[in-house]
Amino acid sequence: MTATTITPIIDRPQWAAEKTHHFGESVIREMSRVAARYKATNLAQGLPDFPCPDDLKDEACKAIQDNINQYSFTWGDTKFREAIVEKTQRTQGLTYDIDTEVTVTCGAAEALNATLMALINPGDEVIILEPFYENYIPNVILAGGTPKFVKLNPSDWSIDAEALSAAFTDKTKAILLNSPHNPTGRVFNQDDLNTIASLCQQYNVVCITDEIYEHILYDNAEHVCMARLEGMRERTVVINALSKTYSITGWRVGYVLAPPPITHVIRKIHDFLTVCAPAPFQRAGVHALNLPESYYTHLNELYADKRTRIMQTLNEVGIPFVEPKGAYYILGDISKYGHATDTEFCHWLAKEIGVAMVPGSGFFSNPEDGYGYARICYSKSSETLSKAHDQLLALKQHG
Ligand code: GLN
Repeated sequence: MTATTITPIIDRPQWAAEKTHHFGESVIREMSRVAARYKATNLAQGLPDFPCPDDLKDEACKAIQDNINQYSFTWGDTKFREAIVEKTQRTQGLTYDIDTEVTVTCGAAEALNATLMALINPGDEVIILEPFYENYIPNVILAGGTPKFVKLNPSDWSIDAEALSAAFTDKTKAILLNSPHNPTGRVFNQDDLNTIASLCQQYNVVCITDEIYEHILYDNAEHVCMARLEGMRERTVVINALSKTYSITGWRVGYVLAPPPITHVIRKIHDFLTVCAPAPFQRAGVHALNLPESYYTHLNELYADKRTRIMQTLNEVGIPFVEPKGAYYILGDISKYGHATDTEFCHWLAKEIGVAMVPGSGFFSNPEDGYGYARICYSKSSETLSKAHDQLLALKQHG
């Protein structure tokens, strides 16, 4: 063995914690690496490839120059928490207390981890609607819980009330909701929300609601925070972040809104996980949260155009899909291309056609349920969408 040979960790399974055997690496983030390897147009990982607003960049630079470079309070910069509370009041009519009900985290990813770690005991079940955002599985497993899956109706990705009701038991501790939904673009309607709310109350279950796409909506779809429903504020944990709304996924600033007893335990976990979110970006985030209504109108126009363009491309190529009403993903039906799996299709697509998508199996508990799908992310510049359009036309010879 030479000095430069490194024994892969896989040869030493005894070194790995048992829980790491129950989930794989992120398929979404792997596809960004596959895209880079083949120099493919990246419609895989959910991040904008266009810049964030200039004034946000200026505010971040200013915060650094103003010496906001040390730890913030563990549960978040005071000005930033005030801005979160004010914005939540303005947009959802919900009042939260900055001292006892708001925790700032390193993105929604940490918010979810901290919340689940704070609430879940071994043996607790967490209901997850599938398809789901892949992080939810490792999040639940790392917290010691057991995911319990409920399939959405594939015709419109709505909730099957009977199936959901059957999943609730006395072991259910929480349900994970995500609306607008990744990967389908579903915005759960009042009936869907009412079904969840009444089951949560019947079984004394906490609703953890990931609302990171709340401002990316189409066709006048309305986002209603679960905490607004009768009887739900006291049992709802709202997860959110600046990442998607303000196109700053790399800033890693998220937050959790929850009633005091839940916030208290989330803060304890958050403190020992990361101490605090990046201080200068929290301060710059005050400006983001105070942006006027016109910012959100413009955002919706921008994404409406991107959605139209990607739907036109998929229609032209002949890839069926359910029209998204929110977020910036489409789950395309790729079954007609005849590949053995979605993963094989996506690797072939990146290499031969030059476009990266995420294999659908990464969003299902049983991978075979996702073999017929690929997720397409369209939070991309006009140039990227044009390029992807031209490249994807080559698929017409293959279907
Ligand atoms: N939420 C985004 C997605 O689904 C990005 C996830 C991530 O890589 N943190 O692609």
